[in-house]
Amino acid sequence: MNLEEITEVVISLGEPKFRASQLFKWLQSGVQSFDEMTNIPQTLRQKLADISYIATVSPLRKYVSQIDGTVKYVYELFDGELIESVLMKYEHGYTVCISTQVGCRMGCKFCASGIYGLTRNLTASEMLAQITYAARDNNIRVSNVVMMGMGEPLDNFDNSIKFLKLVSDENGPNIGLRHISLSTSGVVSGIKKLAEYNMPITLSISLHAPNDEIRNRTMPVNKKWNVDELLNACREYQKVTTRRISFEYALIEGINDSDSCAKELARRLKGIMCHVNLIPANPVKENTFKKPDRKSIIAFQKKLESLGVNATIRRTLGADIDASCGQLKKKTKEEIDCANIC
Ligand code: SAH
Ligand code: SF4
Repeated sequence: MNLEEITEVVISLGEPKFRASQLFKWLQSGVQSFDEMTNIPQTLRQKLADISYIATVSPLRKYVSQIDGTVKYVYELFDGELIESVLMKYEHGYTVCISTQVGCRMGCKFCASGIYGLTRNLTASEMLAQITYAARDNNIRVSNVVMMGMGEPLDNFDNSIKFLKLVSDENGPNIGLRHISLSTSGVVSGIKKLAEYNMPITLSISLHAPNDEIRNRTMPVNKKWNVDELLNACREYQKVTTRRISFEYALIEGINDSDSCAKELARRLKGIMCHVNLIPANPVKENTFKKPDRKSIIAFQKKLESLGVNATIRRTLGADIDASCGQLKKKTKEEIDCANIC
């Protein structure tokens, strides 16, 4: 709930309005129960517990990288559904990568998150709880957020917007919108709607292919909105927000990693103020996609740079704790299903 919604509840309970701000602050600090709210009278705490609950995430698995301290969580939600979340340490602070849906219905061929399709949307508070839990668990302040875990944020538009407002609220986690990235597989209707909010977040586009022929093979969303429509929406978005756009490009051996792909990509991105993030594709058990060797990845980056496109190769964090983008949840679910059957 945002402050206005909490105020309505407080007033309906016959309580003074200022209690709403107190409650809002507590909820945004990641408390797990009303009893932790020490400046709220016991009677009100009880009334609240009778009519409501605090959305929390419970860690079912936690893996800590011995190499770089990256922490990966598999959380269980109130209804038993599982999501994953990652805490990463960079020089400039801590970043949390959050999930926005249980599963995903976009069906990208290289991604483990979509294998079971979409189960349900996350609420804004379930998104927020992934940040507050990681902050409390590690006794740190989270300075950056990336909406790059399981799920397609623009397919859960209203909750994603509500989350962005809550997480950047100065009475809450107060994480500036400039420190938040939202990644989309290319839901053009959502990009257009997002432009209307004109938020200073970083928009990340999972492009992964320079043309329709390749993108149709790996990303079904391209059949609804093709590369031209997607890039035009990006141009329009940039006109409104004046923000640099980030393009994600997962390099898959023999599919999208050729010299001509790099040339075509550079040509298509002309005129867009952007940055390309090259990600060596993570192998997923269910498909045969492989990442190119290091030399080819560097050659792809150099080609883009030589054509005037700013490109970096994404560093791998938490390499020893396995799995990303839905793989950890899937592995945990399989373990649980197996234990139940056994
Ligand atoms: N649904 C949104 C955000 C979550 S996915 C989106 O698709 O943008 C976060 C990023 O990981 C996306 O760029 C996605 O394409 C990429 N990704 C998914 N599976 C991957 C894999 N096996 N290897 C490399 N990148 C992958
Ligand atoms: Fe969904 Fe993103 Fe995975 Fe595609 S890459 S299936 S949009 S989570």
